[in-house]
Amino acid sequence: MLVLGHQNPDCDSLCSAIGLAALFNKIGRPATPILQGEPNPEAKFLLAQANYKEPEIRTEVAGEEIFIVDYSDWNQGTADMKKATILGIVDHHKLGDITTSTPLECWIWPVGCSATIVYNMYKFHNQTPDADVAKLMMGAIISDTVNFKGPTTTDIDKVAAKELADIAGVADLQVFAETQFEAKSDIASVPASELILRDQKVFEMAGHKLAIAQLELTSLETALSKKEEMLAEMKELHTSKGYHSTIVLLTDINKLDTTALIISKDADKVAQALESKVVDKAFELPGVVSRKKQIIPFLQSAFEG
Ligand code: MG
Ligand code: MG
Ligand code: MG
Repeated sequence: MLVLGHQNPDCDSLCSAIGLAALFNKIGRPATPILQGEPNPEAKFLLAQANYKEPEIRTEVAGEEIFIVDYSDWNQGTADMKKATILGIVDHHKLGDITTSTPLECWIWPVGCSATIVYNMYKFHNQTPDADVAKLMMGAIISDTVNFKGPTTTDIDKVAAKELADIAGVADLQVFAETQFEAKSDIASVPASELILRDQKVFEMAGHKLAIAQLELTSLETALSKKEEMLAEMKELHTSKGYHSTIVLLTDINKLDTTALIISKDADKVAQALESKVVDKAFELPGVVSRKKQIIPFLQSAFEG
């Protein structure tokens, strides 16, 4: 069985796939984690911290048995995923459009991170993750919950992260989180063309495609100094892909605010749905850090009514 997260792999997609495959191997179900692309810098940081080998990048799964983590939409899977057998889904997003022709195992919980669910699967099976895998899963929870400050955080996430830290031998979660966040905020030498795709997901709303990327940063200073470059790259992508809107969320994970850059056929509609106003191809979202909880539901109701 192959275990894989979504496109543009983040910490959760990487670490939950590794954690789940390791659990399956412990209970006699041979499994291999794979990636759909290069993991982001924060995910690479976690691999280095845990001294864990990066899974193989693979974008063809036709004919395979697969378990997917951190999504349930066809468009976030591989292009050939409809030709695979989906054995199960672990996720913490809104339910997507995946359907199957055979029964499957679904673990979908409204918690802050898929790794939290994977850890509870270990408990369900009376297993404990190895220290390196525990460190990866702990890092995924820190990332997805924005160090437990994001609105998707639950007590289940906090308990899981604490127990995983104990297993991993991490004495101070706070110090670990700060180092991890510095790693993902180091964008000075990252080209704008790459930045605008970081953590990008494409959402379909009433027949329109909205591409929404998110950069989580300890300060927006460097990102804002690249605003014009990013807008130029966004414009190019927008035209070539025919999106309704191309958005890049610049989220300050210390202040817990977001500045959104936008290229759109109707930028005002998007900003208004989020109770904001476009000024110079950008709009402010005070108090917003979660795309899945504080942005998507409002865009969906504005577009789909
Ligand atoms: Mg994710
Ligand atoms: Mg996640
Ligand atoms: Mg995220």
